[in-house]
Amino acid sequence: MDLYLNNTLTKKKEKFIPINQEEVTIYSCGPTVYKDATIGNMRTNIFQDVLRRVLRYNGYKIKHVMNITDVGHLVSDGDEGEDKMLKSAREEHKTPLEIAKHYTDLFFQDLAQLNIETPEIVCKATEHIEEMLEYVRKLIKKGYAYETSTAIYFDISKLDEYPVLSHLNLEEQKAGARVNVDLEKKNPYDFAVWIKAPENHLMKWDSEFGPSYPGWHIECSAMSKKYLGEQFDIHTGGIDLIPTHHENEIAQSKGYCGKIPAKFWMHGEYLLIDGGKMSKSLGNVYLIKDIVEKGYDPIVYKLFSYSCHYRNKLNFTWEGMEAASKSLQRLKKGYQRHLKGTDEIEESQVEEYEKKFHQAINDDLNMPIAMGVVWQVVRLEKKSPKLAELLLKFDNVLGLKIQEETTKLQESIPDEVIQLIEQRQEARKCKDWKKADELRGLINEKGYDIKDTKQGIEIKKR
Ligand code: AMP
Ligand code: ZN
Repeated sequence: MDLYLNNTLTKKKEKFIPINQEEVTIYSCGPTVYKDATIGNMRTNIFQDVLRRVLRYNGYKIKHVMNITDVGHLVSDGDEGEDKMLKSAREEHKTPLEIAKHYTDLFFQDLAQLNIETPEIVCKATEHIEEMLEYVRKLIKKGYAYETSTAIYFDISKLDEYPVLSHLNLEEQKAGARVNVDLEKKNPYDFAVWIKAPENHLMKWDSEFGPSYPGWHIECSAMSKKYLGEQFDIHTGGIDLIPTHHENEIAQSKGYCGKIPAKFWMHGEYLLIDGGKMSKSLGNVYLIKDIVEKGYDPIVYKLFSYSCHYRNKLNFTWEGMEAASKSLQRLKKGYQRHLKGTDEIEESQVEEYEKKFHQAINDDLNMPIAMGVVWQVVRLEKKSPKLAELLLKFDNVLGLKIQEETTKLQESIPDEVIQLIEQRQEARKCKDWKKADELRGLINEKGYDIKDTKQGIEIKKR
């Protein structure tokens, strides 16, 4: 079955044909490891994980590279401000190395909790300084980069076309000329590929440019070239990377070897919180840790994210999480019922569901439609192990661990208590407060406390 993916480069959904049938090559821009990854960051990682799983479902082998940005990402995505790593190190009274290790470890813990596969190659910017310098030297040699007293800049005017990925308006950028721009820059939109380090800068390397450090964009160009060659199949990232980071990666690669590095450019949309942006000042920056603290299995968040196509904005609410939590339980129970079922089911019917699911995921990873097919299978009146097997096959894409019966929390609660909880919920729904209170008493007698919160109920051992 043909696989179609949306390509930001052509602004079209295109049939995916890999450069090499044997192995699909993917590069994903990884985290800048200076702070906790949010559930927003994780939405982008879930999208990338689904892409991997869909490619594998289609029979492809994968070579997926993800970088870890541990130097060079300045506070503004342009060439301004402090390095994010150094800012964080200063604020947390740690070395940049300690900061990088701490947040890299946390990032991979989050991935594991969400059952997101680790890419085949994970590479750190600080371990590829030589490769980046080699890239910069070639850009200078070919006339695409020039040196000033503060940095090595990429000369945008040397390109036949810029931008190619986004709708950047260069005239507007020029008009809005920023403060503190380097007056030695030839064009206002030229960007730094290498930066000369000020006196007290902590992260710097010696080269013919003096003590200096890489720009953010050069790391992805140098590392993707090293591990995947001058051209590979798919480049992914969040939507915010299009206008600066990915545009500039393309510019660098065109300068270096005359090629756009990837055939397909895929971008995941943002997660919103209560309809707006996640921000520290609004106190609505949520981490996977917060989801766990509320008593949810992190996988619930993964299922929640499937309610929306990766190219649409997804609005996070705790009500949505509560609904997803119930859905996950229903899905797991549905799988178990099919597993224990004895009904006869036509092979052609199983094939029909498989085809519908496959069509959905091959239509630019349409998970809401794919989940619709999953629910049809779960809800079928006839119960058959053949359908359980089909659900397990689907789970290779979903990554929801549907064969793991219940979450740890619920495993530890005895059935009789769960029944009392359900009866109490029913009583509350019917506004039968007296009965609800009696049931609370019975739950307490069995050794459990029950608390009603805005996000649902919380159960704790007494
Ligand atoms: P940041 O930590 O802001 O540098 O983000 C790292 C990457 O995660 C970004 O490049 C985005 O692609 C992605 N990202 C950040 N915030 C969100 C969000 N709210 N929803 C989806 N992806 C996000
Ligand atoms: Zn990148």
